Amino acid sequence: MSGGVRLVCVLAAVAVLGAIAAPVPSALAQPPRTGPATPSTAQDVAALRLPSEGGAAVTDGKGGSDGAPGPKAGGKGTATGHPDCSKLKCVALTMDDGPVANTSKVLDLLRKKKVHATFFVLGQNARLHPGLVRRMLAEGHAVGNHSWNHPQFWKMSRAAIARQLDRTDALLKRITGKKPRLVRPPYGEVDARVRRIATAGGQSLVLWDVDPDDWRDHDADLVVRRVLHHARRGSIILTHDVWPTTRHAYARIIDGLEERGFTLVTVPQLLGSKAKPGRVFLRQ
Ligand SMILES: [Zn+2]
Repeated sequence: MSGGVRLVCVLAAVAVLGAIAAPVPSALAQPPRTGPATPSTAQDVAALRLPSEGGAAVTDGKGGSDGAPGPKAGGKGTATGHPDCSKLKCVALTMDDGPVANTSKVLDLLRKKKVHATFFVLGQNARLHPGLVRRMLAEGHAVGNHSWNHPQFWKMSRAAIARQLDRTDALLKRITGKKPRLVRPPYGEVDARVRRIATAGGQSLVLWDVDPDDWRDHDADLVVRRVLHHARRGSIILTHDVWPTTRHAYARIIDGLEERGFTLVTVPQLLGSKAKPGRVFLRQ
């Protein structure tokens, strides 16, 4: 889908306000068609800014931020050694729905390329591959909560949504010792309930502004082209490492972004101190 069409979708969602305009793909076999957030209150809409060049994140809430893992070696780091995204053209590559066994190949590639990514994992998959989750953090990547088994939150009660997120948080804490500070709701469905849960849990909500539709179009060339065409400074790029075609695209995505002058960072690095509980990010 083009950026323009996606923008129209977001505008439509905003116009509809409380109406929850969610398509109904079946869970994991058919990952989301949904674009960014579906705000459900006037307050949400007021807070939600559409992606735009130089635009800031969407915000409300208050609180701390996540720690950021180490960066790729480069000249424009901060005193802490992290890349300085106020000077660099930073983008965050995110990978959803795993881990699966072949996520290890993605980790191999990221290590070889010396770049870091952010994995939004499902609890049910993290339970099967706890070693991969530990490896993600050990190798400098960020890990976020993508629910337990990818349900459609708009169909669920607030308590059921909270259970999906809490169960995954608890598992990730058991595996890694740390509760994740980032949440990406399945299908990017954010409403007032999700924001309240995230705020109470001290977590930021991370959506995206670049969507190559890799879940639908299993075509590595197309996925590479779409990412490189739409990526801008501050972009949060949505991909799904569960698909072989997407995994095949990563090397060219990374090379192409770097050739265009981008620095790949984790979401915590990209957001820096703006990553606060209840905030919703489409890009930085
Ligand atoms: Zn997903």
